[in-house]
Amino acid sequence: MSLRALLYRRPSEPAVVQVVFDKAIYLVRLRRHRQARRYTLRIDAAAREVVLTMPPRGSLKEAKEFAQKHGGWIAARLKRLPAAAPFAHGVEIPLRGEPHRIVNRRGVRGTVWTETDDAGNRLLCVAGEPPHVDRRTSDFLKREAQRDLEAASRRYAAELGVAITRICVRDQSSRWGSCSNTGVLSFSWRLILAPSFVLDYLAAHEVCHLVELNHSLRFWRLVKRLYPDVERAKVWLDVHGTDLHRYGLCAQRGTGDI
Ligand SMILES: [Zn+2]
Repeated sequence: MSLRALLYRRPSEPAVVQVVFDKAIYLVRLRRHRQARRYTLRIDAAAREVVLTMPPRGSLKEAKEFAQKHGGWIAARLKRLPAAAPFAHGVEIPLRGEPHRIVNRRGVRGTVWTETDDAGNRLLCVAGEPPHVDRRTSDFLKREAQRDLEAASRRYAAELGVAITRICVRDQSSRWGSCSNTGVLSFSWRLILAPSFVLDYLAAHEVCHLVELNHSLRFWRLVKRLYPDVERAKVWLDVHGTDLHRYGLCAQRGTGDI
């Protein structure tokens, strides 16, 4: 939580309020905002959360009433989110843009590997007991993401003749990548789910920030030099980007049955 958010949250105030609609409970995250003039609701698709923004001096009672009044809207919008796809046996997930079905291989040595079955279906095989499938799949995807992002970023950095301090792969939901002024590149591990041309674009984009720490015309000219088909990757992210956030989630956060 940011310092500002801490300052504007009353110490005794709950971070979440409950809304009951049509026999279901929905959790609504409260957020005071310095510039908010009224109460507003939005859906954070990546976190699968309902967020209620309130003015600095707004009251908890009013916030609750506002959320409750919009129970129908909350229920409808959450229902429209694509279904969560947990890392579990039988679930299909994309790996470098190609669908892979997760198959739990109990009693087999090893951790996680890919295979193609006789029918030509791609499988992501996970050894061990069912409760370990989620963690092992997640660790595998993060490792693969780190490897691909390291390779792509180092290749582009060599082309530009710049040095990368470090490459971090994290679970960040707000941005696909970022570059610090100390030369650290950070990426979302979920890029390993996207086709490789998307991951390559993000790597090229962040490496160019090592030269131009802005989005100026000069920056974009540099990106296009390294990665000519910027539009294709951007369009893919616009259309499919949000969908990548539904993988690895156990259930829809923020909802429950009475
Ligand atoms: Zn940028």
